[in-house]
Amino acid sequence: AELPEDPLNTNETRQVLNTCFSYVNPRIPADPKLIHASEAVAELIGLSPKDIQSESFLNVFSGKEILPTTHPYAMCYAGHQFGNWAGQLGDGRAINLTEIEHNDQFYTLQLKGAGKTPYSRTADGLAVLRSSIREHLCSEAMFYLGVPTTRSLALLLSGDEVLRDKLYDGNPAYEKGAIVCRVAPSFIRFGSFEMLTARNELKNLKSFTDYTIKYYYPEIKEEDDKKTYIQFFKAVADKTRKMILNWQRVGFVHGVMNTDNMSIHGLTIDFGPYGWLEDYDPNWTPNTTDNQHKRYRFGNQANVAKWNLFQLANALYPLINEAEGLESILESFSDLYDEEYKEMMLNKLGISTPKETDSKIISDLETNLQLSETDMTLFFRNLNKIKKEESNEQAFAHIQEAFYKPEEIKGAVLNTWLEWFSVYLTRLNTEKLSNDERAANQNKVNPKYVLRNYMAQLSIDAADEGNYSLVDELHQLLKNPYDEQPEYEKWFAKRPDWARDKVGCSM
Ligand code: AMP
Ligand code: MG
Ligand code: MG
Repeated sequence: AELPEDPLNTNETRQVLNTCFSYVNPRIPADPKLIHASEAVAELIGLSPKDIQSESFLNVFSGKEILPTTHPYAMCYAGHQFGNWAGQLGDGRAINLTEIEHNDQFYTLQLKGAGKTPYSRTADGLAVLRSSIREHLCSEAMFYLGVPTTRSLALLLSGDEVLRDKLYDGNPAYEKGAIVCRVAPSFIRFGSFEMLTARNELKNLKSFTDYTIKYYYPEIKEEDDKKTYIQFFKAVADKTRKMILNWQRVGFVHGVMNTDNMSIHGLTIDFGPYGWLEDYDPNWTPNTTDNQHKRYRFGNQANVAKWNLFQLANALYPLINEAEGLESILESFSDLYDEEYKEMMLNKLGISTPKETDSKIISDLETNLQLSETDMTLFFRNLNKIKKEESNEQAFAHIQEAFYKPEEIKGAVLNTWLEWFSVYLTRLNTEKLSNDERAANQNKVNPKYVLRNYMAQLSIDAADEGNYSLVDELHQLLKNPYDEQPEYEKWFAKRPDWARDKVGCSM
């Protein structure tokens, strides 16, 4: 369609009133190069491996060329950041190229790091190579782990230099600019609704909500508007809860669960300072700017999700004008979460017929995992080696590798562990499954390979030197995170000591 005359069709930074988005074109990159693409994501949108190698793929997904008849745009949204109202935020460095329908699914293609938009505020609209590698690899890793997530089609170098306030010898450091093409049904966030309500743009709130439901929640069919909006809220709450449960299952810590980073589809979105739990510590957050309050720590993600849903409920309230329906959904959130969390943990433990007393096995385990630095992924994965006929000492021996400080596993700590393993073995012996059947079930929920922070960092260091083979290797490895991959056994290991306390960077 023809683009209407729009005097504000510019990337000038500003408050954008009475609308949900602004047309804006990506900036022309100096010398774009494709580093890596996900063939599986390409296939989703109808592109072949050959298409990926084409000039036009490079041009379109670096922002150099705009597809005919499309009108790229940046979305306007607001949000609560670290618990505080932050007002208008918007896509400061994200530009939606277009939406496509393929095999009856909708996909929005979004460039991240393709230049300024009206929402860039004081920042540059760009992204650096290291954060883009982290987003590209992690979104795909999450998908193959079975965690709801946005996808990443491609990772490209822009050929531009980007200035970040990282100082070497007192000098500003330039870094390689990069662009990622993210793919999701839409990039609508909780904050998209919050913005309209905060500005009392109630007509827009209604049309935007109706639009979201019509295209992305078409299964909601209620006889009146109020019920429709309440069902919509419930569907978002359910999806969000499932997403968090999956994060807890694999040890993912998002790090910036602001309401502008909460997808209306319950997808993991915006991979910034995220991290993977190595040492099982519920108080851990990878986000160094959140070190004091640790609001977004591993053990608080479900609470924060509920808090964020409360903000979404407030945003939807003017459409309903009745608190009851929304409130009861919020109230049931924690109970449902606790129930589902228990079920998830029992799956990890290989227990298939839940009992009342299992809650104690789980909470004792969580306590024990904190007695001494213990690697979450190694611990759970190696449970698959246990035979229920074994003694507690034999069973315990299988998970020794998970301890970062084996010298601490003695005396009272050792006894506490041996006691837990006795209870666990007794419990396994009340189950009907054979050892092999149990192990096979556990292997479906306890990943062998996750994107440990140091792994991403190694691939970044190599990429900085122009070597992208590790980006590709990690992408391949993480496509089958639950499978034994003998050729990649080196990645099934504790974080090396040099990588202790190192976290990734979001900028
Ligand atoms: P985040 O914490 O990454 O979710 O970002 C919060 C807000 O800052 C969003 O509105 C982003 O679009 C914006 N933002 C982050 N980095 C940049 C950047 N380099 N240039 C422009 N806007 C940015
Ligand atoms: Mg964000
Ligand atoms: Mg971000």
